[in-house]
Amino acid sequence: MAKKKFNCECPRCRGTMSCGRDTRVFETVWGNCHECGFEYHTTASLLSLEEINRIRKKAKKEPLLKRREPQISWTSRFTGKGSS
Ligand SMILES: [Zn+2]
Repeated sequence: MAKKKFNCECPRCRGTMSCGRDTRVFETVWGNCHECGFEYHTTASLLSLEEINRIRKKAKKEPLLKRREPQISWTSRFTGKGSS
């Protein structure tokens, strides 16, 4: 699907929102209302090793000693933006 922009209805005031969705790299969505200012967007960050291991424990997986390194394609795409 890649990048797509469309109008949608605001859940807060039922006004018109500009909304978007992008499936390149990973699924992201965003929207902003032309009437009341309600807005949302996907955020992304990295979990700490402790947080990853808490999730792994719930999933009955062995704890990690270190986080997996990113793929080359990820590193080249985000180099310099702090998303290691
Ligand atoms: Zn609104």
